[in-house]
Amino acid sequence: MQRVVLARRPQGEPVDEDFRLEEAPMPTPGDGEVLVRVTHMSLDPYMRGRMDDAKSYAKPVEIDHTMEGGAVGEVIASNHPNFAPGDFAFGMFGWASHGCLPGKELRKLDPAHGPVTNALGVLGMPGFTGWFGLTEYGKPKAGETLVVAAATGPVGSMVGQMAKQLGLRVVGIAGGADKCKLAKDTFGFDECLDHRAYDDAKALRAALKDVCPNGVDIYFENVAGKVLEAVLPLMNVGGRIPVCGMIAWYNAGALGGNQQGEKDQLPKMWRTILVNRLHVHGFIISDHFDRYPDFLSDAGPRVAGGKIKTVEDIAEGLENAPRAFMNMLKGGNFGKQIVKVAE
Ligand code: NDP
Repeated sequence: MQRVVLARRPQGEPVDEDFRLEEAPMPTPGDGEVLVRVTHMSLDPYMRGRMDDAKSYAKPVEIDHTMEGGAVGEVIASNHPNFAPGDFAFGMFGWASHGCLPGKELRKLDPAHGPVTNALGVLGMPGFTGWFGLTEYGKPKAGETLVVAAATGPVGSMVGQMAKQLGLRVVGIAGGADKCKLAKDTFGFDECLDHRAYDDAKALRAALKDVCPNGVDIYFENVAGKVLEAVLPLMNVGGRIPVCGMIAWYNAGALGGNQQGEKDQLPKMWRTILVNRLHVHGFIISDHFDRYPDFLSDAGPRVAGGKIKTVEDIAEGLENAPRAFMNMLKGGNFGKQIVKVAE
């Protein structure tokens, strides 16, 4: 089997030398374990955090160990009663061609939920994150205005489509004209602004003000940085901010927040939270997997019926996973980033 290991800890933006593709012995499933031939693996922004040796909600990946990640594939051997060869399953197999895990840690895929790659994006962890963060902490109400950045990714596109179906005005922020077109034409956003078209937070804020004439009730935080600085002063009293991610700062490591002088804004930002009585709620989706069945029963039929759409960006070959990951951190992905590992 093949796997990609973390060769060393990235300093800032990851580079090729931080990863290594290597051969490893094929595992043999033990008692209760299942061996899977991976067909597709997921690339997610959280993986950048796992590369740093910093205190966080999850342990870092050790040097020379397989990069962590969710993947789907075909069962080829099973010592667990719920899995038989030929079944497809999701598990945390990592960046690898094969994975061997206890059957109790795997989720069998239901063909009613569409292509297996749905389990990595729209009906997997990212889609669930968008659905959960919006409903639980966004507390959306018809007629309100929501802003979300990384609008065409699997989290942002779920947030935008769900909010739209709940009767909100939905404004996306995305990188580039093509992504903005995707947000509006495919995902049904009312408006979408290209954050790269504005030099600074002030210019982005002025444009946002035009497309959010009634202010912002929910800012679903995916990116932080310039976007956060632009949106915060536009929040209405009692507004909600589910804090899901801050990708603009991930390459800054554990310190974060001081790449573009954002730290200078801290007193002003904190005051806005106080004066506008904002509800700012950070969450980590792995704390809430008990709600995953609720998500599947709500979103599953909407996806099957074409009411929630998904766009995937599929890189070919395990060896290309590091490059695809680096590209995604810079916004080079067009929809949910997946790597096709095998047929
Ligand atoms: P995406 O597929 O949307 O990929 C990340 C996107 O972030 C890029 O495509 C790019 O989109 C955008 N981006 C990168 N840098 C910047 C920047 N400096 N300013 C603005 N946008 C930037 O990712 P996901 O949908 O998988 O994840 C979205 C967020 O949700 C991430 O922050 C992720 O860490 C977080 N998350 C949090 C979870 C939790 O448990 N709290 C669980 C899952 C995800 P563009 O080109 O449009 O700018």
